[in-house]
Amino acid sequence: MASRLHRRTVLTGAAGAAVTACWPPSLFGQKAGTRLILLGTGGGPRPKKNVSAPAQVIVAGGVPYVVDCGDGVARQFVAAGLMLPSLRHVFVTHHHSDHNADYGTLLLLAWAAGLRTRVDTWGPPPLERMTRLALELNAADIATRIADEGRVPLAPLLAPHEITRGGVVMQDERVKVTAALVPHPPVTPSFAYRFDTADRSIVISGDTRRSDELIRLAAGADVLVHEALYVPAVDRIVASVPNAATLKQHLIDSHTSAEDCGRVAQAAGVKTLVLSHFVPADDPAVTDQMWIDAARVHFRGTIVAGKDLMEI
Ligand SMILES: [Zn+2]
Repeated sequence: MASRLHRRTVLTGAAGAAVTACWPPSLFGQKAGTRLILLGTGGGPRPKKNVSAPAQVIVAGGVPYVVDCGDGVARQFVAAGLMLPSLRHVFVTHHHSDHNADYGTLLLLAWAAGLRTRVDTWGPPPLERMTRLALELNAADIATRIADEGRVPLAPLLAPHEITRGGVVMQDERVKVTAALVPHPPVTPSFAYRFDTADRSIVISGDTRRSDELIRLAAGADVLVHEALYVPAVDRIVASVPNAATLKQHLIDSHTSAEDCGRVAQAAGVKTLVLSHFVPADDPAVTDQMWIDAARVHFRGTIVAGKDLMEI
């Protein structure tokens, strides 16, 4: 067992007792029940050496539901042991490039990998225009592969759906997806999504400042994946950019401190809080334990410091 799984202690229970998670996930066989895999956990648009951009996938009944499409999402999807041609649903929380830069790329490369079936995509406007423009951007490659490799046309497979308010987004035989509008100025609308399956309830916060709407959406959920900001490190984050003052204000006004992630998780009564979309994501001075300790102040459940390709 130990030979095929890298084990790392990343969870702490309510009493502080350590439990063990599998990371990266087992690539052997399909697990029963609904799976949640973090594909990328680093917040912000700047590509980073050791952490991928925000994305996660929920696998229900063997069908993948991707949430957010940061840089590298297609590669991370494959690294998680999933098959790109099985892509079925893609959700975008909001239109910041760390969440949507590879939206078109995921669709294109899933098709290049053999996708022949419908993909529904869901997110704020202008999702339909973005889908159309992604097809246009890649028109030469798509036309070449249809003619040269006998592939089916891509455009008829894609069904984008624009969401402008909270409520039930979609429901099929495996999952009900509910959205809540969350405050992430100046990007409006920005959504959090809740996935309810037969055996689990999983909420993805998207980007938000501390949010009552998110607390309501996440009420009683098994898992809340929450974006997290480590405020004491903000000055170091902005030190190297010319727009430091503006960026610092955006980070504080539009995101949630790790302490407040704990408050939100406690108020919602979730079982497990997964910290992700770390800002900063690559500051060695901010350790996993520091993130967990900050969230622990206000939350008594299980806390996970998320890692790329971690399965929860
Ligand atoms: Zn954002």
